Parts: sequence; structure tokens; C-alpha cells
Amino acid sequence: MKLLEERILKDGKIKEGNVLKVDSFLNHQIDVELLNLLGKEWKRLFEKDNVTKILTIEASGIGIACIVAQHFGVPVVFAKKTQTKNIAGDTYKSRVESFTHGKVYDILVSKEFLTPEDRVLIIDDFLAKGSALEGLSKLVIDSGATLVGAGIAIEKGFQNGGALIRGRGIRVESLAIIDEMADGKITFRKQN
Ligand code: 5GP
Repeated sequence: MKLLEERILKDGKIKEGNVLKVDSFLNHQIDVELLNLLGKEWKRLFEKDNVTKILTIEASGIGIACIVAQHFGVPVVFAKKTQTKNIAGDTYKSRVESFTHGKVYDILVSKEFLTPEDRVLIIDDFLAKGSALEGLSKLVIDSGATLVGAGIAIEKGFQNGGALIRGRGIRVESLAIIDEMADGKITFRKQN
């Protein structure tokens, strides 16, 4: 998506460890208008999939998911990273290795909010090595719901997450795919 690529070039900052900082529009301060356009594009891409629920992971996925969900007219469920008293009942659980922090943690969703009748679209800000997406996919599969695919804002195509997840037959629609991120220069993959 041209608009997202232009914004990454304008405001994205390359940090150590192959991390792209997009705090000024996606991860800290949020450009709602831009996210609304991302939502519109995912709606176009998943129009025919009868999505009943958007699934994401706290924290930075939530804002994006909520705006996207308005285009589909469905609720957002976000996987929690800590077992609080509020989510003490029956849960689906999987493990995720954090790309940015290096830690391994459990993610949880209450069984109440993912059911076999659901058709789930996963939304997240980044796809790097694929652990977050893999963990979220497992929650959907364990619940018996149908996973229609994943909408990712920024995929770092030079890491192996996209290949791993698509290799499992999961549809991944990334709105910007970075093929190279070196010496302060970002190169995008050409998409239709
Ligand atoms: P993965 O699990 O695919 O390795 O990493 C995806 C998760 O790590 C995303 O949910 C995102 O929060 C975080 N992440 C991965 N790469 C980046 C990056 O370059 N910049 C930022 N801001 N977050 C990232």
C-alpha cells in the first residue's frame, strides 16, 4: 500500500537488531486516519470471507484492530499476556517469543470469546519471525474456529515469519513488505 510505504519512509526509524521504529504513527502515537485506510484495504481483501471476529495481541495490536473491526462490523478479541483474575476461567493458551524483548510468554484468550462458529481474521502491526502470528493462529485452531487469514501492517520480508506462516497454508496480507533495511535505507517488495 503506497501510502503506508511513504509514511514508513518519511517517519520510520531503523534501530539496532532489525527493529523498525514507527512510534510516531503506529506504535505509540497513532495516526487514526491512516489506520482507517489500512482497515478499508483489509476489508477489501477479506470482503468475501464472512469474518465474525478480529483477533490481535496486546498491546500495540489493539488500536489497529479496533479501527479495522469497524470496517467489518465485528468485535475485537485481544490475546492477553498475563493471567489476571479477570481471565481466570477456561482459556486457550499458547506461547510467544517476543521479537522486541526476547522473552517467552504465554498468551491467553477466554474460551467464551472464540467459538467453532467464528471466522477469525488476525490483525497485527508487524510480522518478523512469525512467533506472534503462530501463537495467535494456535489459539484459533484450538478453539475450532476458522482462521480466514492475517492482516499485517508491516512485514519484514527479510526475516522468515512470512514464509513460515504462508508455508502452513495461512493467507497473510501485509500492506507493506520490507525486503531490505540497511544503512538507513528501506526497500519495499513490489506488490500488486
Ligand atoms: P514476530 O513474532 O513475528 O517475530 O514479531 C512480531 C511482533 O513483534 C509484533 O507483534 C510486534 O509487536 C513486534 N515487532 C517485530 N518486529 C518489530 C519491529 O521492527 N518494530 C516494532 N515496533 N515492533 C516489532
